[in-house]
Amino acid sequence: MSYITGVIERLRDLTKNIKEYEIILEDRVEPEPGQFAMLWIPRVGEIPLSFADAEDNIVKFIVARVGRVTGYMHERLMAGDRVFIRGPLGRGFTWAPSGRALLVAGGYGLAPLYFLAKNLRIAGCSVKALLGFKSDDDIFYREEFARLGEVEISVEHGSSGYHGTVLDLFRSVIRGRSYDVVYVCGKEELNLAVMRECLRAGLPVEASFERRIKCGAGICGSCSIEPLGLRVCRDGPILDGRMIAPMLEADED
Ligand SMILES: Cc1cc2nc3c(=O)[nH]c(=O)nc-3n(C[C@H](O)[C@H](O)[C@H](O)COP(=O)(O)OP(=O)(O)OC[C@H]3O[C@@H](n4cnc5c(N)ncnc54)[C@H](O)[C@@H]3O)c2cc1C
Repeated sequence: MSYITGVIERLRDLTKNIKEYEIILEDRVEPEPGQFAMLWIPRVGEIPLSFADAEDNIVKFIVARVGRVTGYMHERLMAGDRVFIRGPLGRGFTWAPSGRALLVAGGYGLAPLYFLAKNLRIAGCSVKALLGFKSDDDIFYREEFARLGEVEISVEHGSSGYHGTVLDLFRSVIRGRSYDVVYVCGKEELNLAVMRECLRAGLPVEASFERRIKCGAGICGSCSIEPLGLRVCRDGPILDGRMIAPMLEADED
């Protein structure tokens, strides 16, 4: 797959460590929510990023500062700079045309869920989002989600919303309420814990998984989820609870 050239149109600081990048691409792309792109900065490196939004030839990414490439993006990239993307790649979320969806996000995991929430609304679904952060200063995208449905925030240290982890908040919200489907994106522990509870309750669930992705084409094997042998770049990054079930059962043994 060839690269598409993009020009950074707008950058926004969402928190101290998270920025939003609005990029105008030379060609239109039509990603499904949950799909990702490989973003390449020549002489720096290439990383996978979930589409946080896409309309015509304008895409958005939400990027947490982690290491070499994301650090370069935060420190050096400016409006007008060029980047290159390969994509859309991978398998996106599936969704029912109507019904009640519960979205559970940890930190920048909200990126693909925001794009999903927009599409769910267009498809006539009602959306409730649980957004988990470490502290008050880490909160972002609350208003963006509020425009699409109900939102609850959790912080582990601070005074906003629910006090605790987003997993605790999920457990308190799911009790006694009926949702048709649950979508989760966060650290692997969060994904697996939410998936386990949904499978026990017989609730459809999908999660976005992360591994080190290199080729992005299902060839190199660097992003395999073992022992299942699923490749995040090709079979995922969105995986259905039923695909992950053997891993959850093995954990319980
Ligand atoms: C499908 C997919 C979608 C993603 N979407 C987003 C997104 O929307 N926004 C976002 O901010 N990030 C996203 N990520 C994560 C992002 O790709 C990594 O943070 C990025 O590759 C780090 O590159 P770096 O050069 O800055 O860090 P590096 O210098 O490569 O690494 C810094 C440290 O982080 C660790 N690390 C880096 N990447 C990963 C990983 N994938 N899993 C576990 N440990 C890792 C390294 O081991 C190292 O310790 C996504 C990852 C995947 C697989």
